[in-house]
Amino acid sequence: MNKQKSIRMTKQRKLILNILRSTKSHPTADWIYQEARKEIPNISLGTVYRNLKILVQAGEILEMDFGSGYSRYDGNPTNHYHFKCRICGRMEDVELETIESLNRIVEESLKAKIENHRLEFYGVCNDCLD
Ligand SMILES: [Zn+2]
Ligand SMILES: [Zn+2]
Repeated sequence: MNKQKSIRMTKQRKLILNILRSTKSHPTADWIYQEARKEIPNISLGTVYRNLKILVQAGEILEMDFGSGYSRYDGNPTNHYHFKCRICGRMEDVELETIESLNRIVEESLKAKIENHRLEFYGVCNDCLD
């Protein structure tokens, strides 16, 4: 599944994409904004939000909610699973191939066409277990 369509890469947009592609921390818009200001000091939070939205729509990045009320962003747009620690709130990628057969099972049960699914694991991370 490839829903990427090409979009015009402005300087700000390229910077935001680079920031996201260089971290595995699934940051918030505010964190991205703080990082972006180091390169473009006069960039506004509104510009960051606007560009994040465009990048999400273009399939370049993922937006995730995780029930926290505010979005986190992921520079890896291909489907993958996540783990969230309930103690420190960290969010990690899970090294597990996506289970495409789940789509078939749900299609069978709903008589619908499933295009994608998300899976999140919740618990206590290795650092917090110590
Ligand atoms: Zn933790
Ligand atoms: Zn991820």
